[in-house]
Order: sequence, then C-alpha cells, then structure tokens
Amino acid sequence: MKIGRNDLCPCGSGKKYKMCCLGKEDDEYYTNPTNLAETYKKLRKKSKIKQCLHPNKKECSEKIIGAHSIQNNKIIKRISSDGLVYMPCPKADNAFLPITEYGRKEATVFTGFCGYHDKVIFQPIEDSVFDKSIKHIFLYTYRCFAIEYHKKQEAVNMGKNLYKLKPSLIEMHGNNNPFKGMEIAINDFQFEKEKFDEALLSENYDILTSIVWEFDQVIKFAGTGFEAMTFDLEGNKIQDLTKLDASVKHIFVMIFPEEEKTFCIISWIKEYDDFFSSYKAQLEKLTLVEQKIYINNLLPMISENIVINPEAWDNWDKNKRDEFCAIEMGMATFGESIGISFDRLKAPIYNLFEL
Ligand SMILES: [Zn+2]
Ligand SMILES: [Zn+2]
Repeated sequence: MKIGRNDLCPCGSGKKYKMCCLGKEDDEYYTNPTNLAETYKKLRKKSKIKQCLHPNKKECSEKIIGAHSIQNNKIIKRISSDGLVYMPCPKADNAFLPITEYGRKEATVFTGFCGYHDKVIFQPIEDSVFDKSIKHIFLYTYRCFAIEYHKKQEAVNMGKNLYKLKPSLIEMHGNNNPFKGMEIAINDFQFEKEKFDEALLSENYDILTSIVWEFDQVIKFAGTGFEAMTFDLEGNKIQDLTKLDASVKHIFVMIFPEEEKTFCIISWIKEYDDFFSSYKAQLEKLTLVEQKIYINNLLPMISENIVINPEAWDNWDKNKRDEFCAIEMGMATFGESIGISFDRLKAPIYNLFEL
C-alpha cells in the first residue's frame, strides 16, 4: 500500500505522484483546525457525485435527480410529522449531531439515478403494496444497495479532495495511501453490482436469497442498510475483513411499515448461499421477540439511512436515545473491529418497535 513516486497520485488527478502532489504544500486555510466545520461542509459538497447507476445508459434521461432510497409517498410521509423526520445522519453543516431533522423531500435522498430510471425501475414498489414476490424483494434490495454503493463512491471522492488540500497526509501515514481502504470497500461491491446489473438488463430478478419477517403492527421508523458480517448470531467468526484479497460478502437489510403491517427483508445474492447457510438457519429459528431484538441492534450498527418519527423520538427516555445513538456512533462496530463480538440477541434498553 506504500505509494511509489511513479504510482498514480492519490488525489485522483490521473498524474504520477511525483508529478502531482509529492512535496506540495498543505493548503493553510483548509488545514487550520478553526475552519474545520467549514472545510468539512465544502468538501462534502464538492465530493457529491451525480450519476445514474442503471447499466443501460442509453435509456437515461438528461437529469440526475434526488432519488429517495426509502419511498417518500408511501413510507416517509407516513413516518413524518408536519413534513419532517429525524435521521441519525448528520448534515454537512452540523457534522457531529447525533440526530438531525430532515424535510420529507430531502430525507434519504441520493443522486444515484436519472429521472427516467428512478421512476421506471421502482414503479412496481411505488404503486403497489409489498407482496413478498421475487421482483419486489429485488427492487427493495437493489435500492438499498444503490444508495450504499453511491455513498461509498462519494466518500472516496471526499478522501481524494481532502488529500488535494493536505498532501502531507501521505507522510503522516508513513507513505501509505490513507484512502486505500475506502477504494477497497468499493471494489468489494463490484461482484454484487454486476449481479444486480445483469438482473436489471435481463429482467431475471431471481438472484437473491431472502428472509422476510412480518409484524402485525405499524412502526414509526424505517431504514435500510447493509453489513459485511464478521460474526454470525452465535458469535462464530464467519468472515475475516482484514484479509484484503478475500471478497467481502454483504447482507442487505430493509425495514418499513406497509398498510397495517411492518416488513423486514434480509437478503444476499444467491452465490453466497453456502457461506450464509448457518446464519440463515439461525435467522429462521428466531422467535418474534428475538427478531425484533436483532433488528434493534443491527439497524443502528449498520446504517444512518433510518427515518424516525420526531414526536415519538422526543418522547423517548433519554437513556434510550443515548444508547441508540451510542450504537449508531459505532460502539458495537468498534468492539467487533477489535475482535469483541457484540451479542445481537441481547435486548438493548430501547425498543424501536415501541416508539
Ligand atoms: Zn495529486
Ligand atoms: Zn438512467
């Protein structure tokens, strides 16, 4: 991972390192800690990507739109109060807030599809009730995948833009590329992206294995996320993410209210069935109560793409909000990164299903 003089420059310019940022001075204004908040805001804005992820570019309409990763009319509208929801996802102008208010129009939005594809691909789940069909499960999972893939690309972009302003980052990291890990994280998604693209082009949507849970209640939150699981539900290590050459396998998770019910989908591409077979068996054994506990732990661990009803959140006890935010900030994930498995079947103080 060491950067050589003749390697491509980590800033993404396409030039050789020695001809680009090697020995360049840091930008004083941007690297001044008192300007941190502003620097962050500007960098995030600059690093936004507008693209259409659909593989058939010939069909694309001109405009890349702000696509909702959770349906606005069907789901977010229902969870909002006065047109607002809360998300555990900071905005650029207040990067350290644990919970942020969003308008319905901006909540869960990303610029990953053109107007045409966003409308056409997702029409079936926009217009009709979730019916557990292969196609519906595919579309929910694909939308969940798309936002995560897009966000990863933006994060890499942000790393590159940051590096342009502070070339000394390389020396600080012992001449290692500090953003290599993020690029690898995008590569980790390539195999899955190919499978999704093939399915979209061929309209053969039968590429996923899934578990669908149904609850007889309407929840006041919704969320989507993914995980490169390292431990199964019994705490057995199933995947070593520190091995850079191994391909990383993801599960996708979506939970949302629909009419008088709530659905949770957990899915992965069929190629990983053998790998996830024990996990699948463990999921199938869970009681209704355990299913809820699992979702309560998992969702804040893996996702910021969660919308919550503001009134319900404000009425929650402080200790519940604090614990949810601690997990959201990475407490459990940090433990797992240093080898301490987090028991996802142990009930946290809070219960999202009682919001
Ligand atoms: Zn450069
Ligand atoms: Zn398109």
